[in-house]
Amino acid sequence: MIFDTHAHYDDEQFDTDREDLLREIFSANIDKIVNVGADMETSRASVALANAHPEIYAAVGVHPSDIACLNEEAYDELRRLAAEERVVAIGEIGLDYYWDKEPEVQSAQRDAFKRQLELAREVKLPIIIHSREAAKDTMDILTAEPHVDNPGIIHCYSYSVEQAREYVKMGYYIGVGGVITFKNAKTLRKVVEEVPLERIVLETDCPYLAPEPNRGKRNYSLYLKFVAEKIAEIKEISVEKVEKMTYQNALTVYGLQKGE
Ligand SMILES: [Zn+2]
Repeated sequence: MIFDTHAHYDDEQFDTDREDLLREIFSANIDKIVNVGADMETSRASVALANAHPEIYAAVGVHPSDIACLNEEAYDELRRLAAEERVVAIGEIGLDYYWDKEPEVQSAQRDAFKRQLELAREVKLPIIIHSREAAKDTMDILTAEPHVDNPGIIHCYSYSVEQAREYVKMGYYIGVGGVITFKNAKTLRKVVEEVPLERIVLETDCPYLAPEPNRGKRNYSLYLKFVAEKIAEIKEISVEKVEKMTYQNALTVYGLQKGE
């Protein structure tokens, strides 16, 4: 059984066949999915999807590249959405200096990140971090946070082995998806080698980042088998062990029980 800890099934790329696809996924070996918001609209859509499907849970939050939508009204709505029964995390939130290079925009990203971290603390939910080309500022902001036992997931992890060790020490899980199957993912392979399996979760980030041999195609949860196989190969363990442990990790980080 596989737990897809990060998906975007609300994306318009799934508009033509969403329900058929979900039926296919859940009748195969995918047991649970967390659908993740990136702005207000997709946060609302994530909650709606979770309310319509017992296997889907939601995360609500505003992605660093979408913070223009954040005003006081939006923060109030996020707080209301976060209180919904099937919401299990705040995300995806963080910093993205790859798309936004202007210092004022980056500063606004940090403010929005901190505000949403505050919200996560207030509602006692773990966070899903999106961080790209912003390793130092992300780490600085997160280390300044008061310690919590289960802080969340560093999604689509793309930094060094040293930082991964640091995040694991802080209690985070490392999100691994399709990128691990790419030829140029040398550092990520080292990260997967180093980080204990007890700290890794599987994620598609679909419709993006499909693993080899489907790279470039529309991604979906059934392709996680290629990610699990790659992790098993790197760690020299069985695929079953990877699926079982990462499933358990996902339940733990999102505070869910097996049959829930
Ligand atoms: Zn995402």
